[in-house]
Amino acid sequence: MPGFEIFGDEERKEVQDVLDTGVLFRYGFDQARKGRWKAKAFEADLSKLTGAQYCHLCSSGTAALSIALAACGVGAGDEVIVPPFTFVATIEAVLGAGAVPVFAEIDETLCLNPDAVNAVITPRTKAVLPVHMCGSMASIDEIKALCEQKQLVLIEDACQAIGGSLNGKALGTFGQMGCFSFDPVKTITCGEGGAVVTDDKELYTIAEGYADHGHDHTGSDRGLEGHPILGTNFRISELNAAVGLAQLRKIDYILKKQRAHKKAIKDAMLQFSEISFRRIPDEKGDTATFLSFFLPEEEHARKLAGELAGAGVDSCFYWYDNNWHYIRQWDHLKRLSSAAKLPARLFEHCPNYENMELLQSDKIIGRTISMLIKLSWTKEGLSQRIEKLVEVISKMNL
Ligand SMILES: *Cc1c(COP(=O)(O)O)cnc(C)c1O
Repeated sequence: MPGFEIFGDEERKEVQDVLDTGVLFRYGFDQARKGRWKAKAFEADLSKLTGAQYCHLCSSGTAALSIALAACGVGAGDEVIVPPFTFVATIEAVLGAGAVPVFAEIDETLCLNPDAVNAVITPRTKAVLPVHMCGSMASIDEIKALCEQKQLVLIEDACQAIGGSLNGKALGTFGQMGCFSFDPVKTITCGEGGAVVTDDKELYTIAEGYADHGHDHTGSDRGLEGHPILGTNFRISELNAAVGLAQLRKIDYILKKQRAHKKAIKDAMLQFSEISFRRIPDEKGDTATFLSFFLPEEEHARKLAGELAGAGVDSCFYWYDNNWHYIRQWDHLKRLSSAAKLPARLFEHCPNYENMELLQSDKIIGRTISMLIKLSWTKEGLSQRIEKLVEVISKMNL
């Protein structure tokens, strides 16, 4: 998955372009920058890739989520429905907005279960924030239909799913806004960066203003620009944007490579009838950054993850015990431990996250292993990986 595996002269050239002019700021300095606009160019390319009308680049995926929540009017006390299997940033952004995260169960797509979302809607629900985890998609058309029926805002966290689609429509373009990340381990990376996409001009205008202290970006003198709203600083620098621009041009190569690597591994695993695979609503739209599969029981999954690591089959994640992507180990979140008092604590309807039960999600994640699909595997490396994998699974006697 990670774009850092293929840094090359293309990235170097784009960065050099920026250093040559000395203009590291994405706005203004029209004379000095000699027509070099890396953030703008990246936005145009990402709009093209996703088919979204508007794109705004920002400093991180977390910032993108915060921008989307703000632009869509999600604020103090609003409930936002989120999955327990995600990167904690999704939840942090909701809490940062002063809103209240409400968890719903996932299903075998490893993403929000539409029925479970429906079950936790209350009169205070303002938005649903599905996460397209590990490179593949949620049942996003069903979630979209539910949001339309209940008049809820739909924001997609597509930070791990750039280039993915459902029935030909890009992930990130189903709701009011979609969010992407270009952090150091994402499919496309620029060190730190993120983006929001939308088809709604008004949302775009709020988003790009909010991300830059409310500036309206009209006229040619930044000092004279209007400030219709308060905002913050979630700007990206031209240096980061330059790296991302070169990376984004490699997306077709990346997806092709990942899909081929994933297919080879999955094909070899089909012989094990006790192992099943993550449900993918549209296989063609899978970005193939991970191969996620289910063992019959939790104990098998934990054991296999250990054996794979022991045999040198690296990058296989057992999320249930790992601190990164599943709520089970997030004691800081369950206790709402924070640097300062969170707005969510002021609301009586804030759930007690310590007592919360997510039995369906536990059952699924407890049986899941996800193997990261790398770009840099050689043909021989891939064959050896498959050989070892088959050997280790065979010995499991499932
Ligand atoms: C990486 C990630 C984020 C946050 O992106 P950053 O750029 O690291 O801030 C949010 N959600 C998900 C699902 C992610 O994987």
